[in-house]
Amino acid sequence: MIEAEQFDVLIAGGGLVGAALAVVLGRHPLAQNLRIAVVETKPFKADLRGELFDPKVIALAEASRKLLEAAGIWDDALASSACPYRRMVVRDSAGTGCVEFDSSEVHRADLGHIVENSALLAPMHRAIETMANTQFVYQGIADVQRSGEAGDLILTLADGRTLSAPLVVAADGANSLVRERCGFALRSWDYGHSAIVATIRCQQPHGFSARQWFMDSGPLAFLPLRTQDQDCHHVSIVWSQEHDEAQRLMALDDGEFCRELTFASESALGDVKSISRRFVFPLRQRHAVDYVQPGVVLVGDAAHTIHPLAGQGVNLGFADVATLVEELARAVERGLPHWHLSALQRYQRQRKPANLAMMGAMEGFKRLFASRQPLLRMVRNDGMGLFNRLAPLKNQLVRKAMGF
Ligand SMILES: Cc1cc2nc3c(=O)[nH]c(=O)nc-3n(C[C@H](O)[C@H](O)[C@H](O)COP(=O)(O)OP(=O)(O)OC[C@H]3O[C@@H](n4cnc5c(N)ncnc54)[C@H](O)[C@@H]3O)c2cc1C
Repeated sequence: MIEAEQFDVLIAGGGLVGAALAVVLGRHPLAQNLRIAVVETKPFKADLRGELFDPKVIALAEASRKLLEAAGIWDDALASSACPYRRMVVRDSAGTGCVEFDSSEVHRADLGHIVENSALLAPMHRAIETMANTQFVYQGIADVQRSGEAGDLILTLADGRTLSAPLVVAADGANSLVRERCGFALRSWDYGHSAIVATIRCQQPHGFSARQWFMDSGPLAFLPLRTQDQDCHHVSIVWSQEHDEAQRLMALDDGEFCRELTFASESALGDVKSISRRFVFPLRQRHAVDYVQPGVVLVGDAAHTIHPLAGQGVNLGFADVATLVEELARAVERGLPHWHLSALQRYQRQRKPANLAMMGAMEGFKRLFASRQPLLRMVRNDGMGLFNRLAPLKNQLVRKAMGF
């Protein structure tokens, strides 16, 4: 029998989803007596390498923003560093098809906000450091075992310490060690794309619009950013391309890359003037067959990773957080322990179909725009024009993307 330090909830991973869970759960009135620990490899430190913006940003949906606001994370400082987007323009690069979404059509001030990952993580980590019932344990998880046949999970850390809890939440990302060691089955396939991310400065201001072009070889997204002094010429790019094309683009010098980007974006913001350091990520879809086992639950990228073309990855993770906390609290209200299997199963029943539907839609989009068949291209082009004129259908899609 291993002697382990005991907690009520262990959260493996303090990334965007694990940290959000720690704050939302830790601040819930019914969780005040729980002892919660977040196990993360090392303390958070923004690694901007001299760049003005974090190259990793997310398009935060309104439902996610509201969750963060209710948890006290979305404050004035975060709001002033985030960039609202009020319009989204989606174009078919192989034709004239175009769909435009405007926040006024759904009676909202914004469609969402573009937020740098580090700007979002920093206040979450600061909040956790001040919470009486929640603490960080900075150490990598090296192994995961069960104490006995159906006992609690025990996390063995890289320094040899062991931690145990009746509920372990795996928020340790796409390559989750907890998921793997607990034997969760995973469906996974290569999207055939790599995503290039960087920050660019354009000749013209972005006008608080997000833009996306669908090409045969993959989508290109322009996500608006703003500096503290309200300079609106910076844009974060996510350029997903087939692997060979992504390698070719990465090998270009900055000037050549900016010229290709100006061309691919149809000079929508004039010339691309300059670019930060570029990063490239291979894209894989992953989906766990089950999200729960007795005493263990998967959230965020540990449960599902999705193509970034609609900027939904972390938004699905935040929706996981909202549902999981709701179900744990409901169990406690009913006099059950917070880790009761019925609570975890209720979480799975709600989140799995919702995540699957979004993953299916992204796969459909990717395939539709990857097609080089002339007939399909024509139908796609005409279909986009028609869809753009169908206000009720369009508004329904916008509300879905906003997380409502
Ligand atoms: C190019 C690109 C663009 C994207 N754009 C968007 C977007 O616009 N909108 C959006 O919603 N999503 C977007 N996403 C997806 C989004 O980044 C992810 O969904 C999100 O980061 C997942 O958060 P997470 O906390 O689940 O996992 P992660 O961010 O991977 O966090 C996992 C954490 O666990 C820790 N960890 C891992 N293993 C261990 C271990 N053994 N021991 C201790 N700690 C461990 C890690 O250090 C890390 O902090 C994009 C993704 C990519 C690749």
